[in-house]
Amino acid sequence: MPDWVRALRNILELEAANGFNDKAVIGGMDGFVRQWAESMAARVKSLPESRSLIRPGYSAMSVPDRQEWVGQWRNLLDDVEPTTSSPAQSEPATRAKPPTQSEQPNSGKRPGSPRKKSLSAQRSPKTSPAAVDLDSPVSSLKRVTAKQAGQLANLGVATVRDLLFHFPHRYDDFSRKVRIAELWPHQEVTVEGRIEQAREIPLGRRQRRATEATLADATGQVRITWFGQGYLAKSLPPGAAVAVSGKVDAFQNRPVFESPEYDILRPGQPALNTGRLVPVYHLTAGLTGRTLRTQTWQALETAAGLLPEPLPEATRKRIGLLPLREAIRRAHYPGSREQADQARRRLAFDELLTLQLSVLSRRQRENMAVEGVPVDFSPEFLRGLVSLLPFELTGAQLRSLEEILADLRRGTPPMNRLLQGEVGSGKTVVVLLALLMAIADRRQGAIMVPTEVLAEQHFQTVAKLLGGMCDTTQSENLLTVYLEALGRPMTVGLLTGSTRARPRERLKGLASEGTLDLLIGTHALIQDGVEMPRLGLAVMDEQHRFGVNQRSALRQRSEDNPHTLVMSATPIPRTLQLTFFGDLEISTIDELPPGRQEIVTRWADPDKREAVYEFVRRQVGDGRQAFVVCPLIDESEALEVKAATDERRRLASEVFPDLNLGLLHGRMSSAEKDKVMRSFRDGDTDVLVTTAVVEVGIDVPNATVMLIEGADRFGLSQLHQFRGRVGRGEHRSYCILMSDDPSETGRERLQALESTRDGFELAEIDLRLRGPGDFFGTRQSGLPSLRMARLTDLDILELARDEANRIMEWDPGLEAEEHAVLAEQVARFTERVTVEIS
Ligand code: ADP
Ligand code: MG
Repeated sequence: MPDWVRALRNILELEAANGFNDKAVIGGMDGFVRQWAESMAARVKSLPESRSLIRPGYSAMSVPDRQEWVGQWRNLLDDVEPTTSSPAQSEPATRAKPPTQSEQPNSGKRPGSPRKKSLSAQRSPKTSPAAVDLDSPVSSLKRVTAKQAGQLANLGVATVRDLLFHFPHRYDDFSRKVRIAELWPHQEVTVEGRIEQAREIPLGRRQRRATEATLADATGQVRITWFGQGYLAKSLPPGAAVAVSGKVDAFQNRPVFESPEYDILRPGQPALNTGRLVPVYHLTAGLTGRTLRTQTWQALETAAGLLPEPLPEATRKRIGLLPLREAIRRAHYPGSREQADQARRRLAFDELLTLQLSVLSRRQRENMAVEGVPVDFSPEFLRGLVSLLPFELTGAQLRSLEEILADLRRGTPPMNRLLQGEVGSGKTVVVLLALLMAIADRRQGAIMVPTEVLAEQHFQTVAKLLGGMCDTTQSENLLTVYLEALGRPMTVGLLTGSTRARPRERLKGLASEGTLDLLIGTHALIQDGVEMPRLGLAVMDEQHRFGVNQRSALRQRSEDNPHTLVMSATPIPRTLQLTFFGDLEISTIDELPPGRQEIVTRWADPDKREAVYEFVRRQVGDGRQAFVVCPLIDESEALEVKAATDERRRLASEVFPDLNLGLLHGRMSSAEKDKVMRSFRDGDTDVLVTTAVVEVGIDVPNATVMLIEGADRFGLSQLHQFRGRVGRGEHRSYCILMSDDPSETGRERLQALESTRDGFELAEIDLRLRGPGDFFGTRQSGLPSLRMARLTDLDILELARDEANRIMEWDPGLEAEEHAVLAEQVARFTERVTVEIS
């Protein structure tokens, strides 16, 4: 490698580290360019951007332009000559000077040294490190020992690529350099100087030894102690140039450093631990940040240049993203906060794009592979049914219904749709109409819900709706419907864990014959070997309780590939929809039926507690019922259960000794839960004390008070769900938020809830205030695979989504040459997510 290349590489690195202040080389970058113009030109001539790279003008550029310029050069040098040397062997980074005339390299013009034909031909086997590529084990890097490789494995880092993508989670800002005389306690700064003396000293009883050193510069001296690191003294001989970074402490009124970060400044060794934004990584036992920094640095030096660029140049430019290599470098060793942000932006974009593409291509594949069942129905039949409803469908209901029916009519691919809408927005009617269309075409339907009480509730709702339209006869588990337009009686069954043996066998028999038209039930539906050979439409309520596996288990009840519809009352912010539910189409009922009463929402101060209890008592006195939700306890469900149990006991003995109190929590068996819910639904319980499990949609029209303790600990969407438990009947209803000491964001959330009743708006606010944690159990979402992206990066999310759509539109199989790298990335991502889920 010619010397100027090596020198330039170091200068560029230093320049970037300095924040592009043109101080990396004596005389400025332009001087260097002028001096080496000829050989530089020879090297880059064939490249399109070469002009600006070899024309002096750096000093006049803006910082972003300089950054771009430096980035281009670095990429170019990587292409031309991947680095082979570890930092220790490369030319002095901190002392880089323009080489003198005598060091002038062969510029290719010297006779006898034939000019290489192309840039790539210059990758001679000697200069490209034969052994190390991106997929090599980390131990193939110099200075990563077998033992360290084991430690890195604990961090999920196995290959060189993994190491490059093991990003710091934050930086220590040690970029402020001061002179020793300017040191002031509590600042975080860097000083450089020479060691006057360093010695190992014993400390206390337990053999712990420390190094005590004096560092001096022209302005003064400072004492440094490294606790527990007695061995250090030996590597700090008097006169050694050292930089230390850290918080300045005071000892006897004099500034001192205690266990600061340090670098011994040697020519050719970059200062990774001091004087800059220093990366702080997640660590594991035995592995220090210091060691990891040398390792990531070395990985960057050795292999960053091998990273292929997944984004076409034009795309990158259009969106304003750094090249990948530059982003990776900057993510580890940024020259400024701004650089770190730019790096994160690029890397986040890649992650989100990859996530989108993986979701979209999975959908694509499934769509191509699976043949569905077309459902044929007559519009007159549908219109007839709609006219029998006791109300007009809202616009949003009609729109959702049309979307669903279009999927059913098309048949292939089978529908895979999410129907979301607030509690009470009228999802059930829409679903029922869709089911009736399938049933009219001689298909079976199923509705699966998470609890028995919900199953019963759905069964009753369906019975009521159909009962309003036509004649029905009903037993406990079977409903027969005489709909004229259908031309035959239709049967609806209810199957739960507590269905007795006789009716259970009967239902199973009817189902497997194909004569049971609609089956409503709990997961007994899939556990119990119920066969529905003509199942055409499977509906699941409250998707959070059902995983992908259960969805497909339900589908497998059938001989065909039934359509699936998932209902959810938890609004998913628009920005997250495509990203995390990209394999589902989405219909949204974003409009409540007219005349819904508003639920009075109040945030009550702790000193109003007595008044609140008094209010609850009056409501109960009027014949109403109340919920009391106990605070969320993050650490353990057991604690939460205890808290709820204690609260119920306290309320029963001190506050409402004369009322009937129930208790509901997550440690109960589903039979116990169902018993409690039933007793509340039937009005036998006045006040139900509960943990967050009450969230899932039970209808108790007589309940008018939702009292939420520790309200600031819940997410907005969840609070909104709780609120939706009341106001289901004709009585005016109230949601009372109790919070002893809400944090700043807690306050904002509670105020948002007071003033907003739109669940989608609340979900967006929640996302902004708290991040996405609330929306997912996360495991199925691919979220754990995101390292740089945050879901509050809504702008990046949208950019990535648009780009993914664009790409899928014209290259759905990711087969185009220019998408080769992306395709690989998507494959790797999908594999990782699969591993994480299983
Ligand atoms: P969701 O399942 O979305 O919580 P439901 O389908 O259970 O909502 O509907 C809640 C109540 O509103 C039911 O009693 C239903 O009959 C009624 N309802 C549904 N749609 C309308 C409408 N368009 N106009 C008036 N009432 C409606
Ligand atoms: Mg409902």
